[in-house]
Amino acid sequence: MAEADVSTQSGGYDVELFVNPPDYDLICTICQGVLRCPVRSACHHIFCKKCILQWLRRQETCPCCRKPVNPSLIFVMFKLTKSIGRLKIKCKNEIRGCADTFPLSEQYSHSLSCLYELIPCPYQGCKVQLLRRDLDAHAPNCEHWRQPCHMGCGTVLTQSTQAQHNCYKELRQEYETKQRNHRAIAMALQRKMRRMQSTMAHMKRQIGLICESLEVMDDLHEVEEGVDLGESSSSSSGTSSANSNS
Ligand SMILES: [Zn+2]
Ligand SMILES: [Zn+2]
Ligand SMILES: [Zn+2]
Ligand SMILES: [Zn+2]
Ligand SMILES: [Zn+2]
Repeated sequence: MAEADVSTQSGGYDVELFVNPPDYDLICTICQGVLRCPVRSACHHIFCKKCILQWLRRQETCPCCRKPVNPSLIFVMFKLTKSIGRLKIKCKNEIRGCADTFPLSEQYSHSLSCLYELIPCPYQGCKVQLLRRDLDAHAPNCEHWRQPCHMGCGTVLTQSTQAQHNCYKELRQEYETKQRNHRAIAMALQRKMRRMQSTMAHMKRQIGLICESLEVMDDLHEVEEGVDLGESSSSSSGTSSANSNS
């Protein structure tokens, strides 16, 4: 277990990395770096875990006070690890142009996004090493550039096929044609509706006229009847007067 840890961990942090010179107490006497994963021996001396385990493989005495040290009696100092993690450091890519500073504990996450990190070109087969910030400029010139069509048609595009690939244009044309058709249908429906509305208005007017003429006819009828009555009464009186005259 301890052996595996030793092989994957490195010694202390380079003092030069820190924005402010680290406290003397935080320096490992074995590697002279800032304590990485600090552990304490029974004699209260503190070292990087890797450094002391390596040392104890050769001799089981403390490098500071020469007292015997039992390798199974060294303790990881979690609180100290945390406070060292809060110390501000400069980016290791400072010489390439990165001016960022951040807590030591964020070193790894910064390296994943640092624009001045040297990374291999992500396209398979390309051997170029470049700064992350130059990737966008490199991609259009990379012979090994491969990317699935972002429209999701499933085609993997290369530098040479990308220019001719037009599934996006085709999709857009299809969409625009459909939209034009829909607009035409909507307009035709609107025209039809306007025609029906005007027909209805026309019919309303006609019905109105028919009603009016029916009323006029009724009136006429009534007038005619009235005239008939009047005439008959006058004629009867006339006849009666004529009769009386004769
Ligand atoms: Zn050390
Ligand atoms: Zn000691
Ligand atoms: Zn950086
Ligand atoms: Zn490349
Ligand atoms: Zn496509």
